[in-house]
Amino acid sequence: MSEGAHVTLPAPASHYLGGVMRLGEGDAVKLFDDSTGEWLGRVEGGTRKALGVRLVEQLRPREAVADLWLCVAPLKRGRIDWVAEKACELGVARLVPVLTARTVVDKLNLDRLRAHMVEAAEQCGRTALPELAEPVSLTALLNGWNPARTLIFADEEGGAPLAATLRDCPAPAAILIGPEGGFTDAERAAIRALNAARPVSLGPRILRADTAAAVAVGVWQAVVGE
Ligand code: SAM
Repeated sequence: MSEGAHVTLPAPASHYLGGVMRLGEGDAVKLFDDSTGEWLGRVEGGTRKALGVRLVEQLRPREAVADLWLCVAPLKRGRIDWVAEKACELGVARLVPVLTARTVVDKLNLDRLRAHMVEAAEQCGRTALPELAEPVSLTALLNGWNPARTLIFADEEGGAPLAATLRDCPAPAAILIGPEGGFTDAERAAIRALNAARPVSLGPRILRADTAAAVAVGVWQAVVGE
């Protein structure tokens, strides 16, 4: 996107702006795209299925994103959607679905998750979407781990207090959250064997996986983020 360029909006945005909001020729719209940030545009041509917009000026550049990954076992439909939204709102750079022994979801609709992220970004004013990785097995994730990235391992069986652990591990970092059924002992041992792993506790109670993800990312942003 650049000043003066003419863009055609995707069908869902065209339908909402052209069909629902009934915007017409010359009406102002705010757009954002993941590489150049937020723009002021004016409707110019197109149809309700493919609305045309002329870009007038850049309102906000693409924001810098703290290098935090959220690695989470896919959860049942509504819950993983909620995690994708919170990951976007809370400034996660990359969401990595991790397939573990007790992961109950075998088919993950990445397009649906991406759509939830776009909606969350529009709502919270974020001008850079989290990257959404292809699902990866826990074994492959650990085998390919970059030791420069600290792995904050949310272990329901216990670990160091989260905030204290975070104080000495700036970005790049990743937070790992297990599935509804938790990690197996073998998985726990394999994660803990990683040099970069820092097992942490999120408190004395067993949190739902989605709650654990939001809490851990929120505390990371408060302690380490920008
Ligand atoms: N196996 C657990 C149980 O005993 O019922 C359930 C796992 S919990 C629903 C899902 C994930 O959330 C866990 O694998 C862990 O990553 C995280 N989690 C939940 N509560 C936690 C806590 N108090 N401390 C650290 N991690 C926690």
